[in-house]
Amino acid sequence: MVMDIPFYLPVGNECALFELAFRHKLPLLLKGPTGCGKTRFVAHMAAKLQKQLHTVSCHDDLTAADLTGRYLLKGGDTVWTDGPLTNSVRHGGICYLDEVVEARKDVTVVLHPLTDDRRLLPLDRTGELLEAPDDFMLVVSYNPGYQNVLKQLKPSTRQRFIAIEFDFPPPEVECKVVAEESGLDGERVAQLVRLAGRLRAMKGHDLEEGVSTRLLVYCATLIQAGLPLGQAVQTAMIEPLTDDQDVKKGLDEVVLAVF
Ligand code: ADP
Repeated sequence: MVMDIPFYLPVGNECALFELAFRHKLPLLLKGPTGCGKTRFVAHMAAKLQKQLHTVSCHDDLTAADLTGRYLLKGGDTVWTDGPLTNSVRHGGICYLDEVVEARKDVTVVLHPLTDDRRLLPLDRTGELLEAPDDFMLVVSYNPGYQNVLKQLKPSTRQRFIAIEFDFPPPEVECKVVAEESGLDGERVAQLVRLAGRLRAMKGHDLEEGVSTRLLVYCATLIQAGLPLGQAVQTAMIEPLTDDQDVKKGLDEVVLAVF
């Protein structure tokens, strides 16, 4: 199996850290705002290491059974079907739980024995006790920016992972990323990145989250496709950030100051 390696431009030594964690069987936590490159980074590393990747976007209805598996009816029989986590543990590979704090509490119960040196996954429903192979790795991410006390990772869980902090890439890296992803010319990309910097500076005052690299890529893609710059900025960099008319006016002023 030879996989294409998705484009990822490193910001620091995160690729070397990931590889070290993989080789030494250490679970990894990626912290950082939404849309800053965490998922792309994991996809890139999984392909580089030639490992199967199972990505699960966690949400508040996600239970342990969604990860481990369940008995399903198939042609009149009930058949056990592995969930993505069990699949990775059984066959090796990387399991990435995106926004893990969103998941139900019972998920942490499953993760604990997998994240200490036993590396075990007990499956109560089938009576199996799976031992993770050397090439199994658990990666989770969360966004510490959401100030939700109910949705913090408990210290007993987070201290089972080594952690890398992510943030939006510095301007020179972000320019290269946006240009590569959208095909837009360097000059216009640089303007958008400059605008993103200004908008991010408003985080905490009027905005909960700054504009993400993902949105910047969307904006540049729209411009490259022929949409006038003003409309692209409005659609991809202003409207997604807020519903508040006054805040929007403030953002429009920032846009005018940059262009
Ligand atoms: P997250 O998982 O942090 O929410 P993603 O990994 O989905 O964010 O990143 C959103 C988009 O931003 C990606 O699809 C990619 O286009 C772009 N991106 C961000 N950082 C990088 C990077 N360092 N290298 C390549 N692409 C990046």
